Amino acid sequence: MAKGRCLCGAIEFEVELIPEMTFNCHCSRCRRSHGAAFATQVFAKGDTFKFIKGEDKISEFKERPGVRAFCSECGSRLMNYLPRKSRYLSIALACLDGEVDAKPVSNVYVGSKASWFTPSEDIPSFDELPKGMHD
Ligand SMILES: [Zn+2]
Ligand SMILES: [Zn+2]
Repeated sequence: MAKGRCLCGAIEFEVELIPEMTFNCHCSRCRRSHGAAFATQVFAKGDTFKFIKGEDKISEFKERPGVRAFCSECGSRLMNYLPRKSRYLSIALACLDGEVDAKPVSNVYVGSKASWFTPSEDIPSFDELPKGMHD
């Protein structure tokens, strides 16, 4: 199980990751919501997700079909999920604690990346999302 928390510590959670599904998303929505050149997201098993504390501090920015969740106290971007979390859940890798057994395998949505940033060439880049993945 991986453990994560927000900057202020009000929210803590644990979840089982799917490490081979880790990617750097360069889409404009991730860039804006994370305030960064890209967002590194790892897929996780929705049915293993558990709040250790602070579930009531979660705020949701609703997008179709899912939501972007963040801490209502400190603003940390934590995860994206469908309303009931079971089917689709992606976690911001940067909010996980300790040794994290996952690293990005590809850059996605490079077709809409920031003009001022050059993605790593150590991993493959895709203009959009390879088939079978969500963002
Ligand atoms: Zn917080
Ligand atoms: Zn994105």
